[in-house]
Amino acid sequence: MRQFQFNVQSDSEFRSELLKLKQWLSSRVVKHVLFQVYTEILDIEPFEAVCRIIDEEMPDSECVGCSSNGCIFNGDFCTGSIVVVCTVFEYQTTGLRVLACELTEQTQKEVAARFKAFTEENPWIKACSLMLTIRGMSMTGFCDELSKVRSDVSIFGGGAFNLDINEDRAFVYSKESGFLEHGVVFILMGGEDFYIETTYITGWKPLGRELLVTDAKGDVLKELNHQPAFDIYYRYLHIHNDESFFNNTLEFPFLYETNGIEILRAPIAGNKDGSLTMTADIEMDVKVRIAYGDPWTILSSVRNCCKDIYGFAPEAISVFSCAARRTFWGNEEIGKETLPFQQVASTSGFYTSGEFLRTGRFVNQHNVTLVVAAMREGPKREMPPLEECTEELSGRVSMINRLATFIKATTDELMESTDRLAAMAITDGLTGLYNRVEIQRRIIHNMEKYDTSGIFLIMIDIDNFKKVNDTYGHDEGDKVIIALSNIMLEIARRDGIDIGRWGGEEFMVLIKNRDIEYARSIAEEIRSGFAARTFDLAPSQTVSVGITRAISGETPDAICSRVDKALYSAKNTGKNKIIIL
Ligand code: GH3
Ligand code: MG
Ligand code: MG
Repeated sequence: MRQFQFNVQSDSEFRSELLKLKQWLSSRVVKHVLFQVYTEILDIEPFEAVCRIIDEEMPDSECVGCSSNGCIFNGDFCTGSIVVVCTVFEYQTTGLRVLACELTEQTQKEVAARFKAFTEENPWIKACSLMLTIRGMSMTGFCDELSKVRSDVSIFGGGAFNLDINEDRAFVYSKESGFLEHGVVFILMGGEDFYIETTYITGWKPLGRELLVTDAKGDVLKELNHQPAFDIYYRYLHIHNDESFFNNTLEFPFLYETNGIEILRAPIAGNKDGSLTMTADIEMDVKVRIAYGDPWTILSSVRNCCKDIYGFAPEAISVFSCAARRTFWGNEEIGKETLPFQQVASTSGFYTSGEFLRTGRFVNQHNVTLVVAAMREGPKREMPPLEECTEELSGRVSMINRLATFIKATTDELMESTDRLAAMAITDGLTGLYNRVEIQRRIIHNMEKYDTSGIFLIMIDIDNFKKVNDTYGHDEGDKVIIALSNIMLEIARRDGIDIGRWGGEEFMVLIKNRDIEYARSIAEEIRSGFAARTFDLAPSQTVSVGITRAISGETPDAICSRVDKALYSAKNTGKNKIIIL
């Protein structure tokens, strides 16, 4: 495989470059020639002119292309021109095929299903590079259907775009089907000597606390933690819901994990009802965090990725990078995250409106992500040594890095102390069991919410405990309370039941979805276990226990007072016993 890249400044210059290439190719064995044309200009005239030259000079070649948010030429960001990437496949065993068709929300499932059928009829296919128009469409159906394609086919690619990120228009092109404003081009590659490796990089770091998606449908994110999703952007980033909303939020997408893969989703628009329209569908019940691009992480991810890919010894690398990354770095610095790949092999691609990648079985739509596909024909060749990239981050960028690190560290610390405080607020200090407020809350919650037929309360009180305090001192008394609590803590952890300290030496056990036999066995385990304990000063102690079962429709107060009566009855009839009422 060989790759040649052209930055087209004028038609005549391009034609003469192409003639040179033609000359060079004439003396070599060539199986297929693929031209990929990228532009950020929606005007199809100059694009068409380039494609015409290619067709005139090399009529047997394949030609595809799309509009984009900027091109990647020899690994660097390139704006203001048309980039042509010519890939020459040299092995006789290598297959290349281009399919293109209209793509709309209604047809996308059927298109993907047809593609799936095609891969089944053509076992030589190993890789599919996609260019497609996606703006204003949910691509979940398309991705779900593509996930059913033979699992050994790599699928990757990018959404066509244009220079203005607020503008939805885009096109894809193929020699056979011409320009499509709503379309998809599948570039299929394979054969026994064709090899492919794909990966992705985000480098975006989670910033704030975790937020639960409590309401979402398709690409509309309605609520986070039961609050309008937009409020999050206003509260944490002071982003207003105005015409700059898209630009302002682009650098702060939501990050979440699905099927073990990091997914980023950015909002496109804030809606009147406080919901957010996202760049792609977002699932219910996932936990998201606002994320921010961290230059240091991005560059170190890029370096690691380059090292991995270097081991694969590719001959060409395709890169599909999100337009949001370009906005984040700015035109001057965006090349930093793709140039290292050029050291490994000829690197080209474009800035997208969404990136696609199959990881495992699933084809996912990414946002704010860099998708990388490395290819070669034949066995691994000898690679020139990989230069260690030591470039330092500029002052502006390292300030962002420091702030991002600072915010992350602060958030982590706060989350840790919030978790600790939350645990403290429900725990009894002496015993480690739930405190009175928490066990009461749990009783009320379960009595009101669920089927009460399997609910039991067990109330436990140490017998003649005052005597322990009076005779052996308060500290010894504490030890006795702790000994009893430890027995109960162990049971609570083992069986997942709720136990709390009700008062001084009184405890309450809440049991759900169990029968009376279980309740009795727990009570007996506590009673006999405690009776068997010995202490430094005090003799062995006993407890009295009351048990009761919830009656359908009764109040939490009613069950609590009944279990109290059961305990009272155990006390009045000799203590060290269990009474069920
Ligand atoms: P009964 O068998 O009827 O339950 O008799 P009792 O002596 O256990 O009953 P009472 O309720 O009169 O006494 C409970 C004692 O528990 C009184 C109180 O000083 C003591 N107490 C309450 N909390 C603690 C504590 O945290 N540590 C210690 N050491 N004693 C406590
Ligand atoms: Mg007592
Ligand atoms: Mg008591």
